[in-house]
Parts: sequence; C-alpha cells; structure tokens
Amino acid sequence: MSPESFFDFQSVSEEAEELDFKKTVLCPHCKKPIPHEAIRCLYCGEEVVSVKKPAWVVWTAVLLVIIFVVFFVIFM
Ligand SMILES: [Zn+2]
Repeated sequence: MSPESFFDFQSVSEEAEELDFKKTVLCPHCKKPIPHEAIRCLYCGEEVVSVKKPAWVVWTAVLLVIIFVVFFVIFM
C-alpha cells in the first residue's frame, strides 16, 4: 500500500479557505490561527468573541461598585 492512500486529503482542503490570513488571532478553544475578523473558528466551530472586554475592565468596574457600596454604607 502506498502512503498516499492513508493521507486524508479532505481534512487538509478544509484549512485552505479563501480568507485573509495576514492578520490572524489564535482561537481560544483550539489555539489555531484564524482570521482576526472571524466570528466562528474555522477549525473547531466555536464562537470567537474577539471584541470581548479584557478582564481588568470587568474587575475595575466590579471594584468601583464595591467601593461605592462600602462608602454608602459607612457614610449613610
Ligand atoms: Zn478553534
């Protein structure tokens, strides 16, 4: 048997999509490079939320709310 018969050509052709690969980001799920504007990963099909707020923004907002509540409780 030749090695070609074992080669799965179909799985390779899936990766050769006509997309802009100049700017790529790594999929948070499978760590494969995908176009930065992609909404869904080409490889694992998971949604890629590229416009997600960084964790520090969320934690700063939470911290500000806690500080506000603490001040309100102390001075009222
Ligand atoms: Zn993926």
